[in-house]
Amino acid sequence: MNTTEFEMKKVYSEASGAMSVVDSNIRMRMNEYGLFEESLIDDNSEISQTAVFVSPNLNKETNESEVAEKLYAGDSGISFDERIGYYHSTYVGHVLEGDYRNNASSGGMATWVFKELFDNNLIDYVIHVKKNSDSNSNQMFKYDISSSIKEIKEGAKTRYYPVEISEVMDKVKEQPGRYAIIGIPSFIYSVRLLAMTDPIFKERIKYTIGLVCGHQKSTKFSESMAFQVGIKPGDLKDIDFRHKLLDRPASSYAVKMTGLIDGEMKTVVKPKSELYGQNWGWGFFKPTASDFTDDVFNETADLVVGDAWLPEYTTDSQGNNIVIVRNKEIDNLIKKAMKSQLIKMDVVDKEIIFKSQASHYRHTHDELAYRLHVKDKEKEWRPSKRVSANPNLSKTRQEIQDLRKIISDQSHILYQEAVIRNDFNYFVKQMTQHTSRYTALYKTINRRDRFKRFLKMKPHEIFSKLMKRLKK
Ligand SMILES: Cc1cc2nc3c(=O)[nH]c(=O)nc-3n(C[C@H](O)[C@H](O)[C@H](O)COP(=O)(O)OP(=O)(O)OC[C@H]3O[C@@H](n4cnc5c(N)ncnc54)[C@H](O)[C@@H]3O)c2cc1C
Repeated sequence: MNTTEFEMKKVYSEASGAMSVVDSNIRMRMNEYGLFEESLIDDNSEISQTAVFVSPNLNKETNESEVAEKLYAGDSGISFDERIGYYHSTYVGHVLEGDYRNNASSGGMATWVFKELFDNNLIDYVIHVKKNSDSNSNQMFKYDISSSIKEIKEGAKTRYYPVEISEVMDKVKEQPGRYAIIGIPSFIYSVRLLAMTDPIFKERIKYTIGLVCGHQKSTKFSESMAFQVGIKPGDLKDIDFRHKLLDRPASSYAVKMTGLIDGEMKTVVKPKSELYGQNWGWGFFKPTASDFTDDVFNETADLVVGDAWLPEYTTDSQGNNIVIVRNKEIDNLIKKAMKSQLIKMDVVDKEIIFKSQASHYRHTHDELAYRLHVKDKEKEWRPSKRVSANPNLSKTRQEIQDLRKIISDQSHILYQEAVIRNDFNYFVKQMTQHTSRYTALYKTINRRDRFKRFLKMKPHEIFSKLMKRLKK
């Protein structure tokens, strides 16, 4: 691929750093919007075929379904669902052992499974995301390699923050051993593609743990939350994106931020409901690539963990995971721990897993068809996906999709202007022009849905609903 073509297409790259691992002419750099992007050392040199192959949105030779089939279809007893992929088991629950759940974003399964693999001598190293120990760097979190339980535990918690794998994967090449890695869907898929191009990765990456991922965020997401509590851009030193509030449902978590306020180092805990920009449907600070993946359930990962956003589980403020297990060895570890009560897992139907991510699936998978159609109509290049372009979407949903794109694009630009003006309210005011239209649309949709439900109700149901209202 020539460089001009690459420069035009790279906005669709997940920016995992995989291309940089296989092509010495590519390195990762943070752009002015706080997003990683591939940058060329020599502008005249071609992009290697291997680099194109390991890039999920540039690769045209294979896809997640084919790779998952090669990995799992041959396992005896494995099941398959078109939406969630291959699975041996599906669970919802949390860790009981030690302080894993307490220190985690959700039920603590991600960190606990790493610990189990390590304790059972199945791996030597864990590749995960930790606080950057280099205090001179303005990159707050990065992929790192851990080789003890203490280090593994330090990597707990969700970081809604851009990270990339080029540095750690270079270390994997240098340092023999058995590794487990965690990542969002496009990253795990790029690790699988790397393993298809290089036998060292195939041999050393023994297990992959996948996160469910609504979308990625730029560094400006954390910066903008800190800005709101008086920590100026550049002055944020630490952030916990998922601080549990023990008197509230798991979904009503807070954000804990430490930084300079009027020259003094302070820590502020703010419920996310009191921070602007927390509506994930709006998609503030979202990179383009997040809207061009059709892998919702991290289909090429051995184990998938996400948040159990289900009414029967969110009431528990400590949080629960949804869990999809595609690897038999990991499933055996989970089953053994369930018996010895180290973890509490409910065996659930795959529909429960799907239900917990239903709106994510609709946006990321189903309505991708419309986003692809828009690109085709505009005669713009776009990646080829498993979902086909299709204009058949209701007018309201089309408008929601169009607005989401505007909101997300504008958030990058208008936030930059707000920083220049040193005025966060400028950002709020400008963004509200777009988000208020979005909110109004959702109100219409909700009203319409309520009316449709009403039309389906039986007379006795209407009567009992009326009685309940009267009692209030
Ligand atoms: C950007 C992003 C978006 C997400 N969106 C959703 C969503 O829409 N729906 C949903 O159900 N779940 C989502 N998750 C996953 C969810 O937030 C939890 O991470 C997951 O449920 C695991 O919880 P836990 O308690 O088991 O993890 P913990 O035990 O707290 O461990 C978290 C693990 O994730 C790793 N990690 C943290 N940040 C990153 C990162 N940026 N990239 C790769 N690895 C990382 C950590 O190193 C650690 O190993 C998202 C995660 C991320 C990073």
